[in-house]
Amino acid sequence: MNVAVLGETKPGETRVALIPSTVRELAKIGCDVTVASGAGLGSHFADEEYKEAGATVVADAAAAMQGAEIVVKVQPPTDEEIEGLPNGVVLVSLLSPLTEPELVSRLGKAGVTAFALELIPRITRAQSMDVLSSQATVAGYKAVLMGADALSKFLPMFMTAAGTIRPGKVLILGAGVAGLQAIATARRLCAKVAAFDVRPEVKEQIESLGASFLETEHDVTAEGEGGYAKELSEEQHQRELELIAAHIADTDLVVTTAQIPGRPAPRLITEGMVDSMRPGSVIVDLAAASGGNCAGAVDGETVIRNGVKIIGPANLPAGIPVHASQMFAKNVATLLKEFVTEGELSLDFEDEVIAGTCVTHGGEVRHGPTKERLGIA
Ligand code: NAD
Repeated sequence: MNVAVLGETKPGETRVALIPSTVRELAKIGCDVTVASGAGLGSHFADEEYKEAGATVVADAAAAMQGAEIVVKVQPPTDEEIEGLPNGVVLVSLLSPLTEPELVSRLGKAGVTAFALELIPRITRAQSMDVLSSQATVAGYKAVLMGADALSKFLPMFMTAAGTIRPGKVLILGAGVAGLQAIATARRLCAKVAAFDVRPEVKEQIESLGASFLETEHDVTAEGEGGYAKELSEEQHQRELELIAAHIADTDLVVTTAQIPGRPAPRLITEGMVDSMRPGSVIVDLAAASGGNCAGAVDGETVIRNGVKIIGPANLPAGIPVHASQMFAKNVATLLKEFVTEGELSLDFEDEVIAGTCVTHGGEVRHGPTKERLGIA
């Protein structure tokens, strides 16, 4: 089976969908991998390393796609890339299917069998294929480092001859994969960490990492399906805002990670709350690309309001490309193993992972069932 790895063309994207060690892994199940020259350079994987792993390196994406049965990428394909995809080819990449329906229908019309990595079902068997989890781990870690760097203070406590420095206070809103990693990272920096999430079962996870859970006597819980949250009622949302407002003024660094699949991010920090914080404090909003948890957050920019830095980091995983690519590639390779029987491409559409992740096949858009699964009309 021929697998093509394309280079990424989106500005700032440094990751690559397969790295040399995964080329070796795929060779064992009968996959011949062709790599567009330079595809791994943003993650510091040279063409030579791909060749040593058994891949064929060709001049560019067009050459890599010739004769490919499967094409793998990190970012969704551009219009030009879609034009170059061979009819009937399998495409595996991020596709934002719930917010980019036009891209999905273009792929359908192009006769591509497209798999959206965002839709890997949240079942135990598929955990090792889940790029949302692996990349959220990277993002949660990096967000705290970025926030710590932007702060006007230390995070750890210091007892020195020049006096005692009290530990910094960190608040993490949303304690899913990214939020828990952010808590762990802030704790490694010895900050005093508090966190909140609308899924009550995460309280124990937050506490086991050495952080405190923001308690409220009101019901501010909203568990959805598949391990995700759903939207709070208006009244619950107001209660949550009151809870956050009561804590945020005394916080040095806030990292927000709250998301509802397929919906705009919940607004958790108002302008008034930002104004209540001390100048020099920092908010890192990981939901900036989907509307922002914090008022005034802009994706890819840092906005300063009354001396408080509001960072809306774009594509944080690209900031740690070696390990982000290593994890992404492992996820992709594990998924590809589901596609192959005795070295040949064979897709079993009865399989939960294949059915749940495939958005177009045979000229048709197939993502309806996934929308239902996520409770989206
Ligand atoms: P996500 O990125 O969709 O959301 C991030 C967090 O924001 C979630 O914890 C969510 O509860 C929280 N949130 C939403 N609205 C909020 C609000 N108003 N206030 C505060 N927090 C809010 O979620 P995620 O991190 O991708 O994953 C969520 C859960 O799914 C995790 O517990 C994770 O363990 C689980 N999961 C399971 C699998 C699997 O079984 N294969 C794989 C990945 C994740």
